[in-house]
Amino acid sequence: MKVHHLNCGTCCPWGGRLFDGESHGLLQGHIVCHCLLVETDRGLVLVDTGYGHRQLELRRLSKFFQLLNQPQLIEGETAVAQVRRLGFDPADVRHIVITHLDFDHAGGIEDFPNATVHLTAREKEVADEQRGGAFVGTRRYRPQQWDEMERWALYPMGRGEPWMGFDCVRDLEGLPPEILLVPLAGHTWGHSGVAIDTGGGWLLYAGDAYFHHGEIGRQHRRCPPGMRFYQDLMEVDREARITNQKRLRRLSLDRPREVEIFCAHDRAEFDRIAQAGDGDERPLTQWRERRPPERTFVR
Ligand SMILES: [Zn+2]
Repeated sequence: MKVHHLNCGTCCPWGGRLFDGESHGLLQGHIVCHCLLVETDRGLVLVDTGYGHRQLELRRLSKFFQLLNQPQLIEGETAVAQVRRLGFDPADVRHIVITHLDFDHAGGIEDFPNATVHLTAREKEVADEQRGGAFVGTRRYRPQQWDEMERWALYPMGRGEPWMGFDCVRDLEGLPPEILLVPLAGHTWGHSGVAIDTGGGWLLYAGDAYFHHGEIGRQHRRCPPGMRFYQDLMEVDREARITNQKRLRRLSLDRPREVEIFCAHDRAEFDRIAQAGDGDERPLTQWRERRPPERTFVR
């Protein structure tokens, strides 16, 4: 099973280094929307979709999050553009597995009208009703990003089936058994991670269960203040979020050779994983070329 790592949405939130812990200066940070394209014997599977096309997204996104997150909305970073660039037909994307329906994960869904969308039933329910925090609920969930999709596969929040100490949902409809949903509530009510058995080890895409690489792989959490603020702003269940983040941190320490864990928005993680893979870091390269050298990443 081949996994491509795609950045489907560079954002430059205000706060620079205070936000992402890595950028030069305090003006603009740089985060990614880390998505996966998985080649399987059942067709192409997209895991999260990032942002859609510029003109479309400008109408669909809330002004609040446009201002806060500063999405760059680069056409070449859309999932559909990258699928084409890899030599595939977007019609061959048969399945989309979504961690949650926030605007920065669901923006590309309708670019793949042939796909079945897989996620927890809880997430679909609260997103349709725009329940996800008193202020951010109607701003984070934008049903116009997915209301034209016809095929949905909705799952309970775990079926009591164990995976690495977590509850998981196996046997997703029409998907190979190597792809699992791992519910990780807290950021949203129905948020989940996606685990993939690549044959050479497990990947656990944790979505927005954490935001910064310093939050896992070490005993004590390290997270820049901007990302802390953002996680607090967006959480719906603090206790669940903190508990799940601790469990991820534990897993990262206990089984580092068996499972590679990564989240949706950390640029350093994306950079490392995409470059260690098959070199499918083209979106990042493209982004670099758009910036003067002094604004490229600090490693
Ligand atoms: Zn997100």
